[in-house]
Amino acid sequence: MTVDAPVLRVAIVGGGPGGLATAIALFKIPNVDVKLYEQASILREVGAGINIGTNSWKVLELLGVADSLTTGHPEWTVLNMNGRSGEELHRRERTPDPSMKRPTIRTQRTALQSALLAHVPPGTIQLSKKLSKLVDAGDEGLELHFKDNTTARADLVIGADGIRSAVRDAAWPDYSIAFTGTTIWRTLLPIQTIQDLDPRFRLTGWWHTPTTHVYFSPVGEGLWEIAARARGAAAGQKVSWGICVTNAHVEAHFGDMLPGVREALRRVPEGGWREFAAFAGPELARLTAWDGRVALVGDASHALSGAFGSGAGFAMEDGWVLARALEHCRNDLGRALPLFERVRRPYYSRMYAHLARQAEVRRARLEELGGEASYDDRVRSKIITDGGEDMAWIYRHDIGAVWADVLGRLEDTTEV
Ligand SMILES: Cc1cc2nc3c(=O)[nH]c(=O)nc-3n(C[C@H](O)[C@H](O)[C@H](O)COP(=O)(O)OP(=O)(O)OC[C@H]3O[C@@H](n4cnc5c(N)ncnc54)[C@H](O)[C@@H]3O)c2cc1C
Repeated sequence: MTVDAPVLRVAIVGGGPGGLATAIALFKIPNVDVKLYEQASILREVGAGINIGTNSWKVLELLGVADSLTTGHPEWTVLNMNGRSGEELHRRERTPDPSMKRPTIRTQRTALQSALLAHVPPGTIQLSKKLSKLVDAGDEGLELHFKDNTTARADLVIGADGIRSAVRDAAWPDYSIAFTGTTIWRTLLPIQTIQDLDPRFRLTGWWHTPTTHVYFSPVGEGLWEIAARARGAAAGQKVSWGICVTNAHVEAHFGDMLPGVREALRRVPEGGWREFAAFAGPELARLTAWDGRVALVGDASHALSGAFGSGAGFAMEDGWVLARALEHCRNDLGRALPLFERVRRPYYSRMYAHLARQAEVRRARLEELGGEASYDDRVRSKIITDGGEDMAWIYRHDIGAVWADVLGRLEDTTEV
């Protein structure tokens, strides 16, 4: 990389894992002026726990952040239970491997955010900047308009503003997402609150009914996450994302769970639940727009609503690859953004295709059971997590190796 590349003004919209990782990766390349605009007045994660698998660890290492993420709980045992009878339906045991430097962990979302934030240079992030409009100002670049009536200019705008992306709304006006019919409620609480109820609550485990599940998982520092999910539930508000809801509102959806599970939900301190209405949208044909001056990363680029439980990892990979592409093409957007697309779009296409196959497997299973399927059969039919496929392409994905491979092929063909 030479230093004669023009200085590129980059505006990142959104300070979640995608935006923070993109900022960290861009700071490591020359001739880029990075600003990150976040709508919140305080950068604070809502939600509860988050999985950091091998794929996420790999990108955190590439970003130089991995050693800053020091809390979390390794996931050695994962259970699936019938939530009404308590029958164990599936158990996955991994043997602790002392040679493994970074096993899969579940940690608090705030822990990931703090680790990333520690690597963003001071002065980069501007808070209370909610993007309301994005305008093409021709030779002057792109103009960002914020709700507080201020504006900013940039050569490249990166939409890292999540599943309800305002950047995507501006540059992909025909795209829309829709409520999936599923609502998720999440909380964190000390294990002492629930440990007397069932010893299995100490492990990572799903408790299923045909249309709902309740998930318990340790996230480190003595805290446990409970995530409860109901299909077809009328959400408090259809667009709710991280809003506080009452215990009664949550408990109403889990009446047929075992008394112990219901009691665990009841013991959540009032005010502790946050509600997330799951939205999703179709695959985008392009992740970049406006002649390569707008790019989407993370949830903004693939509205999959938490499918694969690895969206933070995907978002961080996007940011890292985008920085690599810019570095490789010396900030030439006309070459860098197609290169970014070339690496990331097929990956997201594969995810959409996988989810379509998985839905088909589920549908076929239910059809096979017929209209007479019992409650327990319907619960059992839910316990497919991967449609029988090897999921290493997600959970062991090595974005550094993928990038090296792409570069190798470019050199062979002298393409970019
Ligand atoms: C219930 C649930 C469980 C999940 N579990 C996991 C898990 O275990 N592991 C995992 O890796 N992923 C998990 N995910 C997915 C993960 O949370 C997301 O994929 C990840 O947070 C995406 O990061 P992001 O930076 O793209 O978007 P977000 O985290 O959504 O961040 C977007 C940011 O943009 C800001 N913003 C939005 N609009 C504007 C605007 N107009 N102007 C300025 N700023 C704006 C927001 O305030 C926010 O800070 C889960 C998701 C859900 C819903």
